[in-house]
Formats: sequence, C-alpha cells, structure tokens
Amino acid sequence: MSTLRFKAVEEAMGRKAVPVEIPEERPEAYYGKQVFNRQKMFEYLPMETFNVLVDAIDNRKPLPREYANSVADGMRRWAIDNGARHYTHWFQPLTDGTAEKHDSFIEHNGKGGVVEKFTGKMLVQQEPDASSFPSGGIRNTFEARGYSAWDISSPAFIIGETLCIPTIFISYTGESLDYKTPLLRALNAVDKAGTRVARFFDPEVKHVDAYLGWEQEYFLVDESLYFARPDLALTGRTLMGHESAKNQQLEDHYFGSIPSRVEAFMLDLEIEAHKLGIPVKTRHNEVAPNQFELAPIFEEVNLANDHNLLIMSVMREVGRRHNFRVLLHEKPFAGVNGSGKHNNWSLGTDKGVLLFSPGKTRKENLQFLTFVANVMAAVHKHNALIKASIASATNAHRLGANEAPPAIISIFTGKQLSDILDGILNGNVDLDLADKEGITIGVNQIPEIMMDSTDRNRTSPFAFVGNRFEFRAMGSSANCASSMLALNAAVADQLNQFADEIEKRLSNGEELNKAILSEVKKLIKESKAIHFDGNGYSDEWKEEAASRGLDCETSVPKIYDAYLSESSKEMFHRTGVLSDVELEARNEVKWEMYTKKIQIEARVLGDLAINHIIPVATRYQSMLLDNVKKIRELFPEYEAKTLSEDDMATIAKMAEHMKVIKQEVAAMIDARRIANKVTEERKKALMYHDEVLPHMDKIRYHIDKLELMVDNEIWPLPKYRELLFIR
Ligand code: ADP
Ligand code: MG
Repeated sequence: MSTLRFKAVEEAMGRKAVPVEIPEERPEAYYGKQVFNRQKMFEYLPMETFNVLVDAIDNRKPLPREYANSVADGMRRWAIDNGARHYTHWFQPLTDGTAEKHDSFIEHNGKGGVVEKFTGKMLVQQEPDASSFPSGGIRNTFEARGYSAWDISSPAFIIGETLCIPTIFISYTGESLDYKTPLLRALNAVDKAGTRVARFFDPEVKHVDAYLGWEQEYFLVDESLYFARPDLALTGRTLMGHESAKNQQLEDHYFGSIPSRVEAFMLDLEIEAHKLGIPVKTRHNEVAPNQFELAPIFEEVNLANDHNLLIMSVMREVGRRHNFRVLLHEKPFAGVNGSGKHNNWSLGTDKGVLLFSPGKTRKENLQFLTFVANVMAAVHKHNALIKASIASATNAHRLGANEAPPAIISIFTGKQLSDILDGILNGNVDLDLADKEGITIGVNQIPEIMMDSTDRNRTSPFAFVGNRFEFRAMGSSANCASSMLALNAAVADQLNQFADEIEKRLSNGEELNKAILSEVKKLIKESKAIHFDGNGYSDEWKEEAASRGLDCETSVPKIYDAYLSESSKEMFHRTGVLSDVELEARNEVKWEMYTKKIQIEARVLGDLAINHIIPVATRYQSMLLDNVKKIRELFPEYEAKTLSEDDMATIAKMAEHMKVIKQEVAAMIDARRIANKVTEERKKALMYHDEVLPHMDKIRYHIDKLELMVDNEIWPLPKYRELLFIR
C-alpha cells in the first residue's frame, strides 16, 4: 500500500482556506508602506539631500558622494522605525532569482556595547565575497572580489526585518556579473536613441522610457502532494506521470471561478505586494487546471523587473502560509499548458506620448509607424538573439519541444496595421504629408481603424496589441531582464541607425516627413520576413519560416550561439550594453546552467525509475504471477490457459517496459559519465542535449505506460489527476 501517496492526498483534500489578515485600511493607506519612496525620503531626509537625490533619480545622474552619508542616515532611521535590524544589497546574479547577504546595523560603540549605524559607504557599495556566484571565468577565485553598488532608480524596501537595497553586481574590473547592469545600460541606450528619433517629431522631448507589464503565470500544488513527488520538490517539474483522463479539454478552467483556498492565497499575496509598492492588479485562472496568473499595472522596465523578481520570492513565502507550493517552472506537467511570462513592452516620451500608440494627427501617426517599423527591423535583424534571450533548459519544454509553439520569433501585427504597412509598401499611402490635406488612404486614417483592434493571435511569440508589443516567449521562471536587455539594446541600435539615415537625408536637403516615410518604407520592406499573422503553431509555418531565413534552431545550447554572432557582438558593442568579454563569460554561465539543470533531472529520474517504479512494478508483476499460479493449480489445464491469458500478457508487457527502463537508465548514466568529462561548457551542454535528454524522454514514456498497468493502490507517486485537481 502506498501510504505516503494516500496520506498526502488525504491531507490535501482535507485542507480549508487559511484565513487572511486583512488590514483595516484601504490599499491606498498601506500601499508602499515597506518602501523608501519619495514620501518617506521627504520625511526622513534633510531638504537639501532630498532635492539632490530626487534630481539624481529624475535626471539619471549618479548621487554625489558627499550626500551618501546623509541619505544612508535617513534610510536607516526609516528602516529602524519600521522594525528593520539588518540590511542587504539585493542583486541579480546570473543564476535565477536574486541574492542577498545580510549584515546587521550594529557596530562597536567603544564602550563594550554596540550602536546601530549605517554609513553612505555601506549604502552605496558592498563587497559580498561572491566567488561562488557564476561569473563565466571573469573572476578567478584568487581575485574573487566583486562589488555591489546601489541602483538609485529602484527604491529600497523592507522584507521581514531586513532593509533591501537594489544593487548592480560587478567585478572589480568593471564587468557585469548580473542582469541588472546590462539592463540599465540597454535602457540608457534606448533612452538616448529613442529620444533622437522622437525629436524629429517633437524637439522638446528629453527622455524616452521603456515600460514593462509582465504577466506571471504559475501553478499551485498542495504541499503534501509536492513532498510526495521528489521530482517536483527537486527539479520543479514532474519527470513522469501519465496524463489525467480529464485535464484542460473542456476549457473550463480559464477565467473560471477561483477556488477559495487559492483566493485566500491570492488576497494575501496582493496585500503583501501592495505593501511593497508592487501594483498588482489582475488575477485569474489560466488555461491548465491549477494554473493561475498575476499581473501588475505596467511600470518603467527596471522597476517592473525588480518587482517581478521580488514577487516571485514573495509568492513562494505566501504560498507556504497557505500550504501551497508555487511552481514557477515553465512546464511542471506534460500534456497541459506550460507557464510563460508575457512581457508587455512599450516606449514612451517624457511628454507622456506612448510611441506604439497610434495618435490623432498625421504627425503622431507617422511617429507611431516609425517606431513600429524600427521595432520590426530590430527584431528581424536580431531574431536569433531575441530567441536566445528567452532560451533555457526549462523554457525549452514550452518552445520548440514536442509541443507547440515552435522556437521561431515572428511578429503579429493584426489586420489593420498589416493593411497600413502594405499600403506604405505599395505606395498607396501619400508620401507628401507635409503640404497636403485631406488624404483618404493615409497614415492619418490610423486612429479610427486602430481603436477596435481586437484581433489577438495567441500563437504569435511577439504581438502588436494596440499600444504595445507583447513578447510572449519569455519563461515563467526567468528574469525578464534577459529579454528586456536584448530587445531594448537591439531597438536602440536600430533607432540610432534610423536617426543617422534621416540626418543624412536632411543634410542633403530632403524634407523631414518625406525622409522619414521613405526610411520607414525601407524598413518595412527589409523586415517583411519577420511579419507573420498566421497560425504560429502550424507545421507549415516551420517550413515557411525557414524559407524566410528566420532562425529555426531548437537546441538550446546552439541557440545561445546567437549571443556571440558578429551582428550581436557589434550591436552590443555599439550600444555599450555588453562587451565581448562579458558576452563570452555569460555564455559560459548559460551553458553551464543548462547542463546542471538536466544533470539534476537525469539523476532524479534515474533514482525514481530504479528505486521507486521498478520495485513497485515488480511487486505488481509478482502479484499477477501468483494469481496465474493459483489459477493453474485450481482449474483444469484447458480452462486455466484461457483464464490466465490476460494476466500473462500484462506480465510480458510489463517485463518489456521494465527492461527498456533499466537499459535506458544505464545508457543515460553512461552518457552523463562521458559528458561530465568534457571541460568545454558549450560542448558539455550539447552532449547533455543530444545524448542525455533523449534517454529521459524514453524512460518517461515507459514509466507512464507502467502507471496505467500497475494496481493504483500500490503506485507510489501522486498521479496527475491528484496533483492537478485537488484543492
Ligand atoms: P492580457 O491577459 O489581455 O494580455 P493583462 O491585463 O493580463 O492582459 O496584462 C496586460 C499587461 O500589459 C498589464 O501588466 C498592463 O499593465 C500592461 N500594459 C498595458 N499597457 C501597456 C503599455 N503601454 N506598455 C507596457 N505594458 C502595458
Ligand atoms: Mg497578455
């Protein structure tokens, strides 16, 4: 009898919603309570310091050193007033998630006691001995020092009793060892380049900001069931498990009513998020059973990304209070939808104009088309890189694997925009914008048509959705900085080239609007291959995409090569986002992470197959054999043969499955042994992809067959129907 499994199921079924401590005040009273935001700065900092800090933040300048002590002092007083005892620099290493090293505020007071202190130096810079963070060889252990430095554009916050200071993490020689540093560089690049182009339309523009609204998908699993599944607990996904007879076929989960246990969790999470100044707004069920989504109001990219990383860790914490485990893995369960993190992305000027939003005047619409065309050109030129920016061992189960969608980047625009782009290409749009009124088929027509732009192609990885692009290929567990730094850098580079072209034309005496429209036309023409409004999940698209020259590589270790292509290196160099040394080092880390993820999964799978599944299957097989033996003893031979036929067939089939499982596990272990000897990270990752992974698929296939045969009573692991449907 599989007691652990049934005990877990029983526990899970018996659980009720955990009551939530709901604050008496409305959200506006506690929103941002744990954040050192402007209002707190105003309260706790001397006037002069406050003004200098706000000026530095708003104008993207560094904080003058002489004010650091004063800022630190105010921040410490605020933190202590709010129960903080420790502080930490909070940074984003190249592994997933965030890292922190806590120090308390105490210092000797010289009289045998202590005093709580926090100086400007502690605020601005910390030196975590971070030699154990992946650096791709940038820091050898003998010069293991790196340092973290305060990012003033993202406010400090308190979690529990720790003051967290968002920081970048770099080596002593200045190379980035994190995600935030290159993200900030990319945002700076897109600000500069975007401003250059936006000024053709409004010379008063000072800045262009990039915005991000992420949609975080996740699964919830009861914690007892989670712990009864070693594969879930150790790898974040189920490495085996036959599909449940019912899963998402009835399409009854999406936007369905939220179960009370889950609703309590969501409410608790929202309250925590709001206290941390994270503007979460939307919550709903997702397509798969037990799958949900959470989305905030969009914010500036760097802040939005910090908030996403923060909420991923808060979710885990809050989940525990409700006896749930939050699964952020991209594919915890085969056969049902995986989890992504749609990145809704846009650019806007400091004058409040959203640049992917069609406007009311012809000028605004030309600006809209200019920015859209530049995005299309950038994504086209760098489609392999953009894909690499979302590729990972875990996301590979969503993209490019057996289940759709394929790992190909294309852009969906919808019919209206598509018609306009075609119109421009075919010369149906009047080029003479400057001095003509009353154009009938022209860019001035866009606002009316765009208003009811409701067609939404869910099969596109990168879709225009009215006032923004929705980059949907990002994985649920990833750091959005990865996609955002690649996309914003590529777009920045493209915008700079565009601005150069326009300036050249202007100096040749060309009229501005005419110059812009003909450059836009050129871009639309050149990037036509990236534009695809059809079914991105179809097999025809794979062929078509290949013939269009789009990158169709599906092997993740090879997809990473795109970071090191000449065009990527040059683009990152021109925009100042990543140097060749950084790119090479980061790829080492990516390959290494890829290998490690699969290595762990392969070990867990081998262990479960041999120590859990085979013994149980053997036990059931001998139960059947026992039955056959008894039949043969009790019945005359001719009858016994018929009566035991089915059992004999099952016994033989099971023997076959078990044989293959054992062979495959042995072969997988051999493949790992050979791969582990390889020192070059790329080659090792390739071997894990080519030689280890295929065994895992086979092992799973045969285990899932056994699951259908073995007596339910003795099957050791909670089944999909139990994991996915129990509240
Ligand atoms: P859907 O599920 O229909 O795609 P959601 O409401 O779940 O939409 O999420 C949409 C996300 O897009 C939200 O985070 C929202 O704030 C964000 N968003 C809306 N407009 C913009 C914009 N201009 N730039 C960036 N993000 C945006
Ligand atoms: Mg969306």
